[in-house]
Amino acid sequence: MTYVVTDNCIRCKYMDCVEVCPVDCFYEGENMLVIHPDECIDCGVCEPECPAEAIKPDTEPNLDKWLQVNAEYAEKWPNITIKREAPADAKEHDGETGKFEKYFSAERGQGD
Ligand code: SF4
Ligand code: SF4
Repeated sequence: MTYVVTDNCIRCKYMDCVEVCPVDCFYEGENMLVIHPDECIDCGVCEPECPAEAIKPDTEPNLDKWLQVNAEYAEKWPNITIKREAPADAKEHDGETGKFEKYFSAERGQGD
């Protein structure tokens, strides 16, 4: 089992999650974060910390796509453990639907 970051992180990227993870298993893309499924210890502390409610346990249904996105990009993007400012327009995109199709970027984020 692992936790996964899902659609509503895209362009919100509040990063509260990275500060609480005991094993530092978040990785940063240009406009979202992902969790490394082999490093996550399933502690669950990040889930309630996410203001966008974007973090889900993989026991929830219909997360196949997100499991794949998290696994693939955790290998490609840099590790992130220190919270930075969220994007200025994060609130405008919070709760928007279909963000993956509209905005997903495979580009690397800045990392720590
Ligand atoms: S707290 Fe939520 S919205 Fe913010 S970066 Fe983490 S998963 Fe994404
Ligand atoms: S469930 Fe725990 S180990 Fe996994 S990403 Fe969240 S805080 Fe980190």
